[in-house]
Amino acid sequence: MRRAMYEAEVGDDVFGEDPTVNRLQNRIAELLGKKAALFVPSGMMGNQLGVHVHTRPGDEVIVERSSHIFNYESGAAGSLSGVTLHVIDGTRGQISESDLLGALRHGYYWESRSRLLCLENTLNKAGGVIYPLERMQALTRMARTHGLATHLDGARLWNASAATGTPEQMYADLFDTVTVCLSKGLGAPVGSVFAGTRDQIEAAHRRRKVLGAGMRQAGILAAAGLYALRYHRKGLAEDHAKARRLAEGLANLETLDVQMPETNIVLFDVKHGKALPILEDLQRAGVAMVPFAPNTIRATTHRDLTMGDIDRALGLIRRVAGKVN
Ligand SMILES: *Cc1c(COP(=O)(O)O)cnc(C)c1O
Repeated sequence: MRRAMYEAEVGDDVFGEDPTVNRLQNRIAELLGKKAALFVPSGMMGNQLGVHVHTRPGDEVIVERSSHIFNYESGAAGSLSGVTLHVIDGTRGQISESDLLGALRHGYYWESRSRLLCLENTLNKAGGVIYPLERMQALTRMARTHGLATHLDGARLWNASAATGTPEQMYADLFDTVTVCLSKGLGAPVGSVFAGTRDQIEAAHRRRKVLGAGMRQAGILAAAGLYALRYHRKGLAEDHAKARRLAEGLANLETLDVQMPETNIVLFDVKHGKALPILEDLQRAGVAMVPFAPNTIRATTHRDLTMGDIDRALGLIRRVAGKVN
C-alpha cells in the first residue's frame, strides 16, 4: 500500500485533475451501482454530505438511537445543515416499519418536514450487527412512499457483504446516497467515499469545498483506497473469524457476558464491575479496546492482528477480567 501511494499518479483534484482520485471515485460508483462518487477525508463527512444534499434547514432526519450520525458526529447535522434528528429507539440498532411510520410527520405547517431516513450497515454500536437486507428493503420502500430520501452509512458495508455474500450494490441499490469507508477494516490510512446521482455529487462537491476539504494531490491517499479495495476486501472474512475466536474465548469466562459477533466487532459486558479500570490495565498490557457503556467493552479485530494475537489478548483479558469479584 505504501508503495502504491508512493507511485501514485497525481494532479490537482481541486481542478478535477487527479487521475488516481478520479479512478477511485469511478471505481466506487461502479461498485455501488451509483452514477457518481466523491472522495472525502472521513466517513463522517460522507454522512454529513448525505444529510446536507437531501435536506433544507428545519427538516427532520430519522435515525436510530445508537446510530453513528446521532452519537459520534459532534452534533454536525444540527450545526452544519440546520436539521433536527428524529431519534427512534430500535432493537439492536434496527427499526421496524411501524417505528418508521410512527416517526413520520404529517405535513402540518407547525411541524418540521420528515425528509431523510438514514440507516447504518453494519451497525457499530449494536456490535457489528448486519442490517438484514429484507428489513432495509421494507424501510427504504416505506420511506420513498412517504417522500423521504434515504442515505446509507456504509462505513462497514464491506463487512456486511463479506459476511452475507450479498454484494455491496444490492444494499446500495436501496438508497439514494451511500457512504463507504476505506479507512476502517479495509486498512487505508485516510478516506471515505460518498456516492449518489450526478446532481447529488455536484451538490456534495460544492459542500465539501465549503467545509474546507478541497484536496490537492489527494491521489496519494486515493491510491491507498484503490489498493485496499483490490487486496484487502478478501481479508475481511478472516477478521470475522478472529472476532469469533475472541468471542468464544471470552465466553468461557464466567465474569463476562459476551455477544456472539456477526462481523469484526465483539461486545461484552463485565458482569460485576466497571469497564474503565479493566480497559486501563489492558491498555498497559497492550490490548486496546473501547468502552461502549459503563460496563460494556467493544473489541474490534482487523487485518494487523493474527490469530496468535487474539490468543495472547485472550490470555491477558483472562488475567485482568477473569477474576470473580
Ligand atoms: C467510523 C464510522 C463512521 C465515520 O468514520 P470516520 O472516518 O471516523 O469519520 C461512520 N459511521 C460508522 C458506523 C462508523 O463506524
